[in-house]
Amino acid sequence: MSEFTRFLRQARQKIDDLSHHRKIRKAIATYDSKVEEMKQTQFRNWEQARKNAQEIKNYVLNSLPQLLQKFEQNISARGVTVMWAETAAEARQYFLQIAREHRAKKIIKSKSMTTEEISFNEMCEQQGLEVWESDLGELIVQLAGEKPYHIVTPAMHKSTAEISQLFHEKLGSPLTDSAAELTMVARQHLRQAYITADIGVTGANFLLAEEGAVLLTENEGNGRLTMACPPVHVVIAGIEKIIPGLADLALFLPLLATSGTGQQITCYNSIIRGPRQQLETDGPKKMYVILLDNGRSQLYGDPHFREILRCIRCGACLNACPVFRLAGGHTYHTPYQGPLGSVLTPHLRGWAEWYHLPYASSLCAACSFVCPVHIELHRLLLENRWQAYRKGYVGLIWKVALKGWAFIFARRSRLDLVARPLRRWGGHFTWLVPAGKRKRIPALPRKSFKELWLKNEQ
Ligand code: SF4
Repeated sequence: MSEFTRFLRQARQKIDDLSHHRKIRKAIATYDSKVEEMKQTQFRNWEQARKNAQEIKNYVLNSLPQLLQKFEQNISARGVTVMWAETAAEARQYFLQIAREHRAKKIIKSKSMTTEEISFNEMCEQQGLEVWESDLGELIVQLAGEKPYHIVTPAMHKSTAEISQLFHEKLGSPLTDSAAELTMVARQHLRQAYITADIGVTGANFLLAEEGAVLLTENEGNGRLTMACPPVHVVIAGIEKIIPGLADLALFLPLLATSGTGQQITCYNSIIRGPRQQLETDGPKKMYVILLDNGRSQLYGDPHFREILRCIRCGACLNACPVFRLAGGHTYHTPYQGPLGSVLTPHLRGWAEWYHLPYASSLCAACSFVCPVHIELHRLLLENRWQAYRKGYVGLIWKVALKGWAFIFARRSRLDLVARPLRRWGGHFTWLVPAGKRKRIPALPRKSFKELWLKNEQ
C-alpha cells in the first residue's frame, strides 16, 4: 500500500474514532491553557521574544559552518569524538562501529526524534542489540509496539487505563488508575537498565558552539541517568541544533518550555561538556557526538526552505493543527508529524512516497501563528505543494483542474461566465462532491459579491 493510500485510510478511521478525539482534545486543551498562561506570566512581550529567537536562529543559519566547526573544536578538546554523518545510513553505521568497539549488547536511550529519524531502534533489533527507551512516554509506545504519536508527548493518545493495562501485561504490575503509581512501575523497571547498559544514547536540544557542550532538557531525569550511568555516551543530533553559546539559553530554554509543555522551565537541564575527566569520579568514560545531516544541507542551500532549520522541535505547530488533531500523529507514519512533518518529510525521505503530506493541511496558518521561532509553516507547505506539482507527483485530474482554475481566475469576465450558471444550477450537483459525515455543502448565494456591490453602488 502506498503511503498516500495509508494516510487516507488511517485518517478516515481516526476521524470516526470518538474516543481518540476525546483523548486528544483533553490533552491539547490542558496544554493550551498552560501555554497561554505561561506566555502572559513568563514573558513581558511574547512577540518580541519570538522575534529575538528568530534573529538568533537566522544568525546561526548565516554562520552555520563556522559554528559547527567551533563546536567540534571545543568539544573535541575535552576528549569527545565527533563524527559527521551525511545520511541516516551513515549515522547508523557510525553507531554500530562504536557498539562493536565497546562490545556493547545493551543500550539505553532517552527521547530523541533524531534517533527516530534514522530508525535507530529497528537497526539495534536487527543487529541483536537490546535497546530500552528511558523516557516514560517512549517506553509506553515501545512496550505497545508503536511509534511515537507526537514529537514532544509520544504517548499522548493513551489514557491512564490503557497504560495501566499495558504495564500489567508487559511488566506484570497490578492494575491502577494512579499516574504516580504507573510512573513508579516504569522507574523500577528502568533503574536496572541504567546500571546494566553498555551505552547510553541521547539526542541534544541544543549544541553550544562557544562552550563545546551538549544541552539536554527534560522533565523526568531519565536523560541525565542515560548519559551518566553507562560507560559510553553517544549523542545523535541534527546539525541545526547548534546555537552560539550559553548566553542564548536564557531565551531558548524558557521559550522551548513554554511552547513545548506550557512550563516555566523544564525540570532537568544538563550541560554536557565531555566524558569523565581526570580526578572526576563519575560520568561516562567515553563520549561520541554524531552530527547528522540527512538532507539538512539541501534545505540549507534552498532559500525557500532554509527557515525550517530554525525549528527547535517544540511541537506547538502539531497541537495547533486541525488536521493533526483529527487525523492523529500515527496517520503521518513519519518521525515528525503535523505541519513540521509535512514540510520536512518529503525533503528528508524523498518525494515519491511523501509528496502527499503538504496537502494534509487546511492552510489556516495556525501553525505559523504559534511557532516560537516565527517559521512560516503554511507558506512552506504551499511551497512544497508547488514542488510536488513541478516534480510531477500530482495526478492528471488535478493538473487539468488546476490549469482550468488558473485559466478561469485569470480574468474577471471568465469567472463571471462560469459563476453565473454555477450559482443558478450548482445546487443541483452538490451530490457530485463527496460530503463528509459531519459536513454539508452550503448552497451557493444567488448573487456574487460583485453584483451586490454594483447594486448597492447604484
Ligand atoms: S516548526 Fe515551530 S512550532 Fe513547529 S516544532 Fe518547530 S519550532 Fe515548534
